[in-house]
Amino acid sequence: MSIDALAALVRERQPCVVLTGAGISTESGIPDFRSATGIWSEVDPFEVASLHAFHADPERVWRFYATRAQSLLEAKPNRGHDALAELERRELVHAVITQNIDSLHHRAGSREVVEVHGSIRTAVCLGCGASEGLEAVLAQLDERSAPVCSVCDSILKPGVVLFGELLPVQAIARATELARAAELVLVVGSSLEVWPVAGLPLEAPALAIVNRGPTALDAHAVLSIDGDSGPTLASLLTALE
Ligand code: NAD
Ligand code: ZN
Repeated sequence: MSIDALAALVRERQPCVVLTGAGISTESGIPDFRSATGIWSEVDPFEVASLHAFHADPERVWRFYATRAQSLLEAKPNRGHDALAELERRELVHAVITQNIDSLHHRAGSREVVEVHGSIRTAVCLGCGASEGLEAVLAQLDERSAPVCSVCDSILKPGVVLFGELLPVQAIARATELARAAELVLVVGSSLEVWPVAGLPLEAPALAIVNRGPTALDAHAVLSIDGDSGPTLASLLTALE
């Protein structure tokens, strides 16, 4: 029943923009942040994923990201990512804004993807601003403990937004523009606790949520489905046929 209601909303309220969080990727074997089994239940984010930690001990931050990057590269898009790519092909989803750094939306075939927390695909030079692909970076890490820029030899930083860092200005501007132009924002797999991204759904006249468990914006949603993203989005796809 609620799937049919969601399908009706998506059909009626175009353009629809989707905002995803770590929850859409747990079915690909990537842990989220805040669940009992989430990443931060095991390590302190400020020790391995903050700008402060990076300046204090870049090698330690790279050790964490090298392991993480390897597991993200091995992960595969799941039914949830696939369904969103298909909905974009059918022109029922205009764009995906994602807090994830795992590239799984791209790999599933979504084309209009805005990565508001950066991506593991690249590393950036803090000296000259050049960026390098992850593969070259990982190859360097076999020989040294922190990769350096091929242009100026300064140390590279993972291309993801660290705690204590500003969000990429262009991506946030684009995400805000998309949310404002949307008739519906569909949130999938996010606790909506991380600002300013959590404020994006409020830019649109209607908000729908697919999440396992509660989110910070449930009271604002016209429809909330408490369920797993893969099966729910696969059913949505069928309901929209
Ligand atoms: P979060 O951990 O705060 O929330 C994830 C939500 O998804 C939780 O409410 C959880 O119950 C729910 N969930 C888990 N599995 C689900 C499933 N299969 N179906 C539906 N819901 C499910 O994550 P968030 O809101 O994205 O927090 C933002 C931060 O997480 C961002 O900074 C992002 O960069 C980071 N992050 C990204 C990845 C990734 O790239 N895959 C992984 C972990 C964290
Ligand atoms: Zn450089």
